[in-house]
Amino acid sequence: MRVVIVGGGPAAFAAARGYRAANGEGDVTILTPELTPPYTRPALSKEFLRGELQDEDVPIEPAGWYEQHKIALRLGTEADTLDPAQRTITLAGGETLAYDACVLATGAEPKALQVPGATEEWVLLLRSLATARVLRDRAANSTSAVVVGSGFIGCEAAASLAMRGVNATLVTDEAIPHETRLGEAAGRRIKGWLEELGVELVLGGGVETISDHAVRVPGREPIRGDLVLMAAGVQPCAGLASDAGLELENGRVKTDAQMRTSHEHVYAAGDVAFAYNAAAERHLAVEHWGEALNMGEVAGKTIAGAPAQWDVAPGFWSTIGEHTLKYVAWGDGYDEAHLVDHGAGAFTVWYAKQGTTVGVLTHDADEDYENGRELIETKAPLK
Ligand SMILES: Cc1cc2nc3c(=O)[nH]c(=O)nc-3n(C[C@H](O)[C@H](O)[C@H](O)COP(=O)(O)OP(=O)(O)OC[C@H]3O[C@@H](n4cnc5c(N)ncnc54)[C@H](O)[C@@H]3O)c2cc1C
Repeated sequence: MRVVIVGGGPAAFAAARGYRAANGEGDVTILTPELTPPYTRPALSKEFLRGELQDEDVPIEPAGWYEQHKIALRLGTEADTLDPAQRTITLAGGETLAYDACVLATGAEPKALQVPGATEEWVLLLRSLATARVLRDRAANSTSAVVVGSGFIGCEAAASLAMRGVNATLVTDEAIPHETRLGEAAGRRIKGWLEELGVELVLGGGVETISDHAVRVPGREPIRGDLVLMAAGVQPCAGLASDAGLELENGRVKTDAQMRTSHEHVYAAGDVAFAYNAAAERHLAVEHWGEALNMGEVAGKTIAGAPAQWDVAPGFWSTIGEHTLKYVAWGDGYDEAHLVDHGAGAFTVWYAKQGTTVGVLTHDADEDYENGRELIETKAPLK
């Protein structure tokens, strides 16, 4: 058995680990264009940007782990094409690898806004360790920064920049940070945390252009920063899969709950997958660290012949400054959101759709987080 895993993120890592843990004894190869073994990406907008973690602190496992588990980790290696009929992968350098099982774990990459100047070389993006190093080093020599986008990464990065003494401005077309995903009540709390750290907020401002280290929104003076970070969401890296004719939906690779794609012997996991969640009883698109690990593990175990399926409600933790949010949700919409204030800053937001619990967001309320998962997975009515 030859298992070839395409990608160097958590889904790829967990597929290899899950395969070995389920007593898979075949040859395992991980292909990644990155030059570092799989690492903890979530740290990049938090401790790493703040200068509290160094490069050597981020790998999930040290290089020796791959050797010990007889996993060939090929760094600096990009898969160019996938041929499901021949069961081969061609590398960017021209080499062809044959597989008996292939896992696509190619993740996602940051999107640039469709406005003039957004793709200028000096507009930074944050995804890989390489991009994080550039951002951190630029931050060390900057007194001001503009962050475009108020999702998880934009809010986390703006907070981290402010904490390291950079005057950070967050520009977003949302009226309240995170409002689109988490709702107004949660967004107001997050807004307060950013303001406490001294982050200036430019809300409800659709960016028109970016030039000369300035971001322009209608009705405002140009917002200038020594550095500009674009944090406007991600798009799945599904090119390899679509070129190979795999079934895609929402730009992601469609899989069953065992991570099998439309082509036999090809699996997909992590941000690139649109996987069937057995508990939700529908396909879900998620961009969460823990779910990439879960899906990768399911793929690895399935390839090894062990029973496994993706059947947990997806979870996400985010740390904005000193404040940690814990979130579990199907992530595909709600029609009610209720904030419960526990005092001393702690809170829970319950989300429901047609009366059924579909999500919970907590800050310093772990009991609700734990109970919430069960209520979501059992499709309990909102309390
Ligand atoms: C700064 C930052 C902070 C985050 N914080 C959090 C957080 O706090 N909590 C949370 O839940 N999630 C967080 N996330 C999201 C989380 O990191 C992702 O959901 C997760 O990394 C997805 O894992 P993945 O393995 O699917 O893809 P990725 O981690 O994106 O890995 C994909 C890998 O595939 C490689 N690849 C792509 N194309 C090819 C190819 N053709 N050949 C070979 N390799 C290829 C890429 O180089 C990359 O190594 C954060 C993300 C970022 C960027």
